[in-house]
Amino acid sequence: MCLKRLDIQGFKSFGDRLSLELNPGLTVVVGPNGSGKSNISDAISWCLGEQRPTTLRGSRMEDIIFAGSDKRKPVGLAEVSLVLDNTSQIFSLPFNEVSISRRLYRSGESEYFINKTPCRLKDIQALFMDTGLGRGAYSIIGQGKVDEILNSRPEERRSVIEEAAGIVKYRHRKEEAARKLSSAQQDLDRISDLIDELAARIEPLELEARG
Ligand code: ATP
Repeated sequence: MCLKRLDIQGFKSFGDRLSLELNPGLTVVVGPNGSGKSNISDAISWCLGEQRPTTLRGSRMEDIIFAGSDKRKPVGLAEVSLVLDNTSQIFSLPFNEVSISRRLYRSGESEYFINKTPCRLKDIQALFMDTGLGRGAYSIIGQGKVDEILNSRPEERRSVIEEAAGIVKYRHRKEEAARKLSSAQQDLDRISDLIDELAARIEPLELEARG
C-alpha cells in the first residue's frame, strides 16, 4: 500500500493549505522541536478516524482546529485528506486511487468522505480493517510505541499480530454473527414463551366453546 498525497487545511499548526506529494521511497520530515512535525502524523491518525483527543495530544477534539498564529486568524474548520494508491486492489473499491477525508467544524459537526462521497466513520474503519493502517494499527509507530508493544500483555500484543495477519475482519464478522445469533435466540425464546402461554389457553377455550 502506498500513501500518495496528504492534504491538510486548518489542522493544528497548518492554517494554510498544505499538500504533500509522497513519492515512492522514503519521506523524511525534518524540523526543529515544536515546529509541527508530529502534527503531520497526528493529521494522518485523525483522518483515519482517531476519536481520542489525548492520542492527538489535545484535551478536546476542537483543539485540533487551527487556533491562529501571529500572522493568521483562527479558522472554523479542519480538513485532512489522504490519497492512497489502490492499483493492487488492497481496498475492495473499483478505483486506482482511494481518498479518505475527515472534516471537523468548531460547532462540533464532523464529516467523513471516501472518494469525496459522504460516509460514516464505520465505513472508513471497515475499509482499513486488516490493512495495518486503521486506527490503533501498527502503521503509525510513535515515540515509545515499540517499547509499549514489547512490554504489553500477551492479549494486547495479539491484536497487533492479528491485524498484521489480516484476520481482524473475520474476527469482527464472527463477533457480529454471534451477536445476531444471540438476538435471534432471544426472539425464539420469546416466541416459545408465547406458544406455551397460548397452548395453555386452548383446552379451557375448547371446553368453553363446546359448553
Ligand atoms: P517534536 O519534535 O517535539 O515532536 P514537533 O516539531 O513535532 O515537536 P509538534 O509538537 O507536533 O512539533 O507541534 C507543536 C506545534 O503545533 C506548536 O507550535 C503548537 O503551537 C502548534 N499547534 C498545535 N495545535 C495547534 C492549533 N490548534 N492551532 C495552532 N497551532 C497549533
